[in-house]
Amino acid sequence: MKQYLLSIDAGTTSARCILFDRKGAVCAVAQKELHLSYPQDGWVEQDAAEIWAVQLQVCREALKTCGAKPEQIAAIGITNQRETTVVWDRATGEPIAPAIVWQCRRTAEMADELRCRGLEQMLRDKTGLVVDAYFSATKLRWILDNVPDARRRAEQGELLFGTVDSWLIWNLTGGKRHVTDASNAARTMLFDIHALCWDEDILRELDIPSGMLPDVVPSSGIAAYTDAALFGREIPIAGIAGDQQAALFGQTCFAPGEAKNTYGTGCFLLMNTGEKPVSSENGLLTTVAWNIGGRVTYALEGSVFVAGAAIQWLRDDLKLVDSAAQSEEIARSTADTGGVYLVPAFTGLGAPYWDPYARGTLIGLTRASNRAHIVRAALESLAYQTADVLYVMQKDAGLVLQHLRADGGASANNFLMQFQADIVDVLVERPACVETTALGAAFLAGLAVGVWKDEEDIRRTVARDRTFAPQMESERRSRLLAGWHRAVSRAMGWAAPD
Ligand code: ADP
Repeated sequence: MKQYLLSIDAGTTSARCILFDRKGAVCAVAQKELHLSYPQDGWVEQDAAEIWAVQLQVCREALKTCGAKPEQIAAIGITNQRETTVVWDRATGEPIAPAIVWQCRRTAEMADELRCRGLEQMLRDKTGLVVDAYFSATKLRWILDNVPDARRRAEQGELLFGTVDSWLIWNLTGGKRHVTDASNAARTMLFDIHALCWDEDILRELDIPSGMLPDVVPSSGIAAYTDAALFGREIPIAGIAGDQQAALFGQTCFAPGEAKNTYGTGCFLLMNTGEKPVSSENGLLTTVAWNIGGRVTYALEGSVFVAGAAIQWLRDDLKLVDSAAQSEEIARSTADTGGVYLVPAFTGLGAPYWDPYARGTLIGLTRASNRAHIVRAALESLAYQTADVLYVMQKDAGLVLQHLRADGGASANNFLMQFQADIVDVLVERPACVETTALGAAFLAGLAVGVWKDEEDIRRTVARDRTFAPQMESERRSRLLAGWHRAVSRAMGWAAPD
């Protein structure tokens, strides 16, 4: 009887379910869009009840498409949008407020206030995060402060808090288990990533009752069983990880110095730094990658705000390309950018520059500059921004990058992948299965129930689509990078108040 791993990929814009077999092949996919609402400027919300209902629906659909019986599901793995905050009633299972989505900025002032109270260093040391509204802590506090009666009810033990993984597991188990894993807990800004527990001091400072919080269980291990009524049989839930950490696992970045980059709207880079957390001198985040068999692996995380979005901009606003994919052919039609650089700092610059006042800059134009130069410069900007983050990651971690594993929509672009290899001088590998996030959750679950023996067994499962070896001469690389850094310096501070 063929065995499958059922992977729940609870994203921000869609709920997905993928069934994988032991070879890591995709056997069925079901996906449905989720609604996001924007009730006020900068606010982003979702209906937690919808997240659960749609997720259950796509799970059933994938099982049906595949023709898999419940007894063929060896285990369930869950990966999810991180930081998004749900609070629900322990007795009824009803959310008491809309889920506050990671993108929501409503608690920006609360985060400023934490900084003003001098808590930044303490929070950074304990949680590995920079103080920001992005993480769950201030979102949870907002719900307690603003939903009528919430604080009293939370103090009396009537309410539960969870990120999306916890919320789904609570529902999958018919309200029996309230758990999360350390990779998700590490994104709440309430979790001590060294001691691996919720931090009493932070909870006190934020006035959050500890009874609301889930138990933290291993990322790989049987955390719970589904309610038999849902799929006709109790199925073990055996893998849990936040989306970026799951992708790191799905890309088999098991050793220190192995890193992955997801080339989507923005870029998300994670580097495995091994068993010790590394703190960054350059504003990168320190996070738990996973906790398996009592062994914790840490990662450094950095992101690029505008990556694939720059290609969308070429397509939708400048109309320089008909499709994102066409950018490849156009970039190849010219040997270089003719000295043109695009710094797509549309919303400021993140690591390592951290300049909210930087703005997009197209520079180096001459009368000979043409469409192909600009398209190529836009694609190259994804690689340059990635190179900047990788440079500080290696410096902070004291590790040399082994290779870079790529995924995400824009990783389909062979020109970009080759230029990335050239500009960082490292091997770039693209897996055959680009569903690395869902695959990571399946691997974590399968490892726990013996579908895969160990990490080596998993490594053997993953097929590479293509590797891109660096070919550029170092003199040219240095010249191009110097030009990029000059362009960045011109973009910085542009929108700063006088
Ligand atoms: P997200 O998950 O962030 O929505 P995806 O991983 O689906 O993003 O990737 C979509 C992004 O990748 C878009 O911004 C798009 O412009 C870009 N993209 C998709 N295909 C290509 C391509 N062949 N070349 C360059 N960029 C691409």
